[in-house]
Amino acid sequence: MKLHIHLDFNSTTPVDLRVLEAMLPYSNPQFEIEGSSTHLLESKSLEVVEKARHQVASLIGSRDEEIIFTSSATEAINLVMNSVYERYAYRGNHIITVKTEHKAVLEACNNLIRKGAEISYLNVNAEGLIDLNELQNLFTEKTILTAVMFANNETGVLQPLKKISEIVHANNSILFSDATQAAGKIDFDVAEFGIDLLCVTGHKFCGPKGIGALYVGRKNTDVVLREHINIASKETNFRLHTLKISEIVGLGLACQLAQKEMWDNNSHISALRANLEHQLLDFSGLRINGSTKNRLYNTSNICFHGKKSVELFNVLRKFGVSFGSSSNSLAVQPSHVLKSMGMSDEDAFSSVRFSLGKFNTQEQILEVINSIRQNIYA
Ligand code: PLP
Repeated sequence: MKLHIHLDFNSTTPVDLRVLEAMLPYSNPQFEIEGSSTHLLESKSLEVVEKARHQVASLIGSRDEEIIFTSSATEAINLVMNSVYERYAYRGNHIITVKTEHKAVLEACNNLIRKGAEISYLNVNAEGLIDLNELQNLFTEKTILTAVMFANNETGVLQPLKKISEIVHANNSILFSDATQAAGKIDFDVAEFGIDLLCVTGHKFCGPKGIGALYVGRKNTDVVLREHINIASKETNFRLHTLKISEIVGLGLACQLAQKEMWDNNSHISALRANLEHQLLDFSGLRINGSTKNRLYNTSNICFHGKKSVELFNVLRKFGVSFGSSSNSLAVQPSHVLKSMGMSDEDAFSSVRFSLGKFNTQEQILEVINSIRQNIYA
């Protein structure tokens, strides 16, 4: 049987079989029914949950007690945005974020606007990077939160978070980073980067879907999330049926594997992308969208200038890539990320995101290139 080629790892990833295997013993409903009534299984579950918490903490360089399990990055984002807004209402209502954030952050901002928040949206340049001077100039006495994503899901562009955190803290604000795309792919340490709040999600690095984590740093900030108190007490008053043990075990192991195998994955995937881009750039009119210097090693957002989106879609959809558009209930729109980088609607529609992963091979890259050569540039 020929396996489907999946070049859309930024969207979601297949679960690593080792992760699935580790989850299996905890996926049996019998385990949970018995577990809720037997002390032994309850303490065993507590043990595996704490092990997973340690594995997540280790991946991002935090302390174990700074990790809260969530059902997704989206949940963590909403938890952060809503609770910081409520918790610090006495100080102000101003939040800074970036035009190219994921919709989960932008939608959370829209909800807060309805509650009275003032949001400033940082611009990005043609490379997708923010301007640190613009950031510095946006702070007011009312700025309570700055939300800047670590790596962009469409372009892979990495924002200069260390410098951003210095500016944010000098202005007495809290830094939240959506690290959904960076976690498990690149090595970073929340303490070293000076990040106060950060989220990750399992399904972006070969872990299970429906499980993520929120880091709430306690070292340098007095961040106490309102709802966090409820969640934390739920975890500490541990009740088996309230936690998804198998998903938590899977997330923990996925973090451990990603950390242990990061450099192997990096070199394998970097070589795949180098080959893909090397061959693609041979075709005339193609260019890479976003910074090529400050970028995740797995992402390649390519503008097929002059080519119609429908043509690209017909040829490339079988490879599971993403296109430079997003649809809402009313219409297909050009990507807000590419538009924020100053691209025309036409070029945004002619753009394709390839996001590679550890299960991809050079043969698959060759197949994509051949298909493009035969069907688009024949
Ligand atoms: N943030 C970014 C940058 C993402 O790429 C995604 C998923 O595509 C999310 C947040 C949402 O993640 P989840 O599916 O865990 O809610």
